[in-house]
Amino acid sequence: MCGICGKPIDRTLKHPSRQRVSLDHTVPASKGGSHTRSRVQAAHLSCNQAKAAREPVESETPLTG
Ligand SMILES: [Zn+2]
Repeated sequence: MCGICGKPIDRTLKHPSRQRVSLDHTVPASKGGSHTRSRVQAAHLSCNQAKAAREPVESETPLTG
């Protein structure tokens, strides 16, 4: 099951496929606590990449449009 889109993942798919399973490292937002644990969930490679592209990085990038 994909942890991002919630759809089942075909684990038989291999590298060339963008629907293959990949590991998504979910890091919880910093809550000021000392315990920050990252957990790993399965996700489609395409979903994983799309998520990574959408998540803001350290620096603020100006939005155009
Ligand atoms: Zn997915």
